[in-house]
Amino acid sequence: MSKSKYVTQACTSCGRESKMEIIGAVVGAENKVWFRCTRCHHSMMLDMAGKGKQDNVIIYNREECVDYSPEKIFEIGVSIYHTDWDDMGKVTSKEKTSSGGNAIWVHFEKNGIKKLIENLQLAD
Ligand SMILES: [Zn+2]
Repeated sequence: MSKSKYVTQACTSCGRESKMEIIGAVVGAENKVWFRCTRCHHSMMLDMAGKGKQDNVIIYNREECVDYSPEKIFEIGVSIYHTDWDDMGKVTSKEKTSSGGNAIWVHFEKNGIKKLIENLQLAD
């Protein structure tokens, strides 16, 4: 249980996807964690907010949530509230859809991971 945890991240020092050893959390900033690159041993601080692959528990706070709407643009890490589903989620990543639109991946409290449209251009 006391094994070191590793994540794969692009290193800001050697510029390559590297295995990063988690050194420890930053006191007073629970989303920020110190990592050390196993390639170049450079230490760096990363913001873990929105890293959906991590097994840490996501805390959902309705007051921090922005109501979801397909026309809006969402940043990775922000909390959103889906009014139709009555569900809170956190934006974990973004992607371009095959039709050239924009989509976000959201980790919802009840519905799990869902893909939603963002920055929808309404045709007139
Ligand atoms: Zn490195």
